[in-house]
Order: sequence, then C-alpha cells, then structure tokens
Amino acid sequence: MDQQAKEQLIRAVAATIFDHADELTALDQAIGDGDHGLNLKRGFEAVVAELPGLAAKPWPDLFKAVGMAMVMKVGGASGPLFGTFFMEFGKTIGAEPDRAAVAAAFARAIEAVKARGRSEGGQKTLLDVLIPVNAVLADGGDAAAINAEAAAAADRTVPLKAIRGRASFLGERSIGHMDPGARSFSLVIMAAVDALKNQGFVQ
Ligand code: ADP
Ligand code: MG
Repeated sequence: MDQQAKEQLIRAVAATIFDHADELTALDQAIGDGDHGLNLKRGFEAVVAELPGLAAKPWPDLFKAVGMAMVMKVGGASGPLFGTFFMEFGKTIGAEPDRAAVAAAFARAIEAVKARGRSEGGQKTLLDVLIPVNAVLADGGDAAAINAEAAAAADRTVPLKAIRGRASFLGERSIGHMDPGARSFSLVIMAAVDALKNQGFVQ
C-alpha cells in the first residue's frame, strides 16, 4: 500500500471518531465519567497531526507511532489499551501483510490488551468487539461480514454487566447500556475496513 492510501486510511479512521465523539461521550456518561469521546478525539488529533510523515512509515513503525500517540494523548483506561493494541499489532504485522498476517497481528494484540487490562471477553469492554471480529477476520470473512460483526458485537455489550473498568462500579446498573470502548473500537474497525475496501485491498 502506498503512502497516499495509508494516509486515506488513517484519515478515515480519525474522521469516524471525530464524527462520533458526542455519541461516545454520551455512552460514557451513562456508565462511566463521560470522557471517552474527548479522550479518543484528542488521541486521533495527535495521530492526524503526524500526517503526512506518519503515512510514509512502513506498517510496523506506523502502528508503533499510532499506539504511542494513543498512550500519550488518550489517557483514561482506554489510552493504554488502545495504545497496547496498536503497538502490539505493529510488532507482528510485517511490511507487506496478507490476510493471515493481519489476523495473526490482531490475535497477538488482543492477548496484549487482555494482559494489560487483566480482562477477558464477556466483561463488557472493547474486547467484546475485538475477539469476535478477529474470529470473522481469521475465518476469511469479507468486508461486509467483518463490519456486520463489529456492529453486532458492540450491540451485544448492551445486556452485559460490566466486570472491568469504571462501569463495573455500577454493577447491575451497567446493564442496558452499550460499552463506550466497544462502540469506539467497532467504529475504528468499520472505518478501516471501508477504506480498505474502497482502495481494493479487501472484497
Ligand atoms: P476511563 O474509564 O478511565 O474514563 P475511557 O472512558 O476512555 O476511560 O474508556 C472506557 C472504556 O475502556 C470502557 O468502555 C472499556 O471498553 C474500556 N476498558 C476499561 N477498562 C478495561 C479493562 N480492564 N480491559 C479492557 N477494556 C477496558
Ligand atoms: Mg471514561
């Protein structure tokens, strides 16, 4: 993928976070402290500020830089978790990734997020999107299947009781609300997949 396509991809992901910042804030107001939209907006503003140079980097360096920006700028619980995801993703992805390399990088990044958050699937966190999406990815699902799973997985966090993060303080009262981090990561995935599809890299 050339520099221009990488820049388009990064801008598309950032744009979906900017467009949905208020929605993410509202989700976090319901079961957290209401900062998730602003946290991620600040992080992706820092990523966009590194363009165009960021897009000239090979994939491993690009993801490392994105992850570091997340850790340094997003803050909250989600900053280190998003940051860990992207930094670990970059360690496995390789310079010319195929589908298998992406799925392997995704799997490694998930394990790192679990370790960092001392968390697992089913606890009403962003892992409840990452884990099922990677299953579709590894299974060879097309763009529509991956994005349908991302959206459905975020929806499936609504009836869950939060076991990790700030929302867990609410106990039973966390039930009935979508997890903000699950929603934001589903947005990131859907925007990335749409951009890759438009560029002809996935079906
Ligand atoms: P904070 O909770 O510190 O205000 P954010 O609002 O930015 O941070 O992010 C909250 C999101 O972070 C949650 O919706 C959840 O998806 C995710 N999260 C929080 N704690 C964990 C954890 N231990 N493991 C996985 N994800 C977590
Ligand atoms: Mg918050």
